[in-house]
Amino acid sequence: MAKFEVPKLPYDYGALAPYISEQTMKLHHDKHHQAYVDNLNKAVDMHPEWGEKGIEEIIKTYDKAPDDIKTMLKNHGGGHYNHSLFWNMLSPKKDQSPSETTKQMIDAQFGDIDTFKKQFGEGATKVFGSGWQWLVMDNGKLSLMSTPNQDSPLTQGKTPILGIDVWEHAYYVDYQNRRADYISGWWHVVNWEYVEGLLTK
Ligand code: MN
Repeated sequence: MAKFEVPKLPYDYGALAPYISEQTMKLHHDKHHQAYVDNLNKAVDMHPEWGEKGIEEIIKTYDKAPDDIKTMLKNHGGGHYNHSLFWNMLSPKKDQSPSETTKQMIDAQFGDIDTFKKQFGEGATKVFGSGWQWLVMDNGKLSLMSTPNQDSPLTQGKTPILGIDVWEHAYYVDYQNRRADYISGWWHVVNWEYVEGLLTK
């Protein structure tokens, strides 16, 4: 029995175009995310007690799992968790602005929104190979971090607020090797409303 499922995309596959194409979204959501979920389900089938935990608990505690599924939970559990967040962090309502509350919180930590975007973008550009760049809440303070592969900030006790997937599968069809262009395009479809929800939770 499949315990975990890929959540339905909260908008049409083509809704983020021209910044992220329909083809990329179909591959990314239906194939890549699905593969993480399928492999996560295989792992919890091997040790069903792990299938009774929620995905956040799995991300926080996979290190305590039996050796034969530890890496599967880390990679595929992480993939499922990160991508479930990622779809919601994007919106077809393009060029949203952060609300006053969000802006104040970002200004307090980074000076202003442009400096924040610059630093976040630099971090995303520098991720070597496959991984993610994040804005996280860490002990009540906003900060930037990147994670390799499908590692989640949650494993380190930090709460993801905004994250960009910089695996090539996220942008190669649309931007080929031009990760910086993908990052610039991606800002146009950031769901600031959702980000605010995470910030003020
Ligand atoms: Mn991805």
